[in-house]
Amino acid sequence: MKIVMLGAPGAGKGTQAKMIAAKYEIPHISTGDIFRSNIKNGTELGKKAKEYMDQGLLVPDELTVDLVIDRLGQEDCQKGYILDGFPRTIPQAEALDAALTKRGEKMDFAVNVDVPDENIVNRMSGRRACAKCGATYHIVYNPSSKGDICDVCGDTLILRDDDKPETVQKRLGVYHDQTQPLIEYYSSQGILKTVDGTQDMNDVFAAINSILGE
Ligand code: AMP
Repeated sequence: MKIVMLGAPGAGKGTQAKMIAAKYEIPHISTGDIFRSNIKNGTELGKKAKEYMDQGLLVPDELTVDLVIDRLGQEDCQKGYILDGFPRTIPQAEALDAALTKRGEKMDFAVNVDVPDENIVNRMSGRRACAKCGATYHIVYNPSSKGDICDVCGDTLILRDDDKPETVQKRLGVYHDQTQPLIEYYSSQGILKTVDGTQDMNDVFAAINSILGE
């Protein structure tokens, strides 16, 4: 099963993507995670990506597309995958479709986790991430059981630079301009499914599961 997750930054698509990946035993491919791990490891790609990410801008398609297409060619992607944070622009979606067509494949579902802007700003200021292992939490909706300490690895949780309120506003603008057109793109392919992302995360998960089980 091949799934694209769509939704504004902070809509909860990453959390859902991880849950779906675990249930269907498919890889969870997050371009944000790939960039963050490159930043942590001080790679050239990480240095370039950070300049854009810290400003709430998208990393250019030239640095993003090949990376994902290569990843999808790996062995563990044979029986499907869930893409989280990619594609984020129409050219990325077209490049993805072209690569899939070349391999005689197609995307099965584009799941749009729908959350209004006003909820997003609230949510993102409560987000916390582990700088060491990348696990994500929310101080109200999905807290760590140990307060400021990561449940997974025991490191300290932080508010990511790109989750700070001024950056969130910028990211929302970028989302509406560049990413939201993908809703129409996948709708016209007949594979778009929209779920109400304002619900409790377990209810969102149940809604997605019933879509995937159709
Ligand atoms: P995320 O963790 O998906 O919210 O991504 C964090 C940041 O990484 C974004 O704000 C972008 O700067 C960058 N990023 C992630 N995925 C992409 C993508 N597909 N294209 C361009 N930039 C991306």
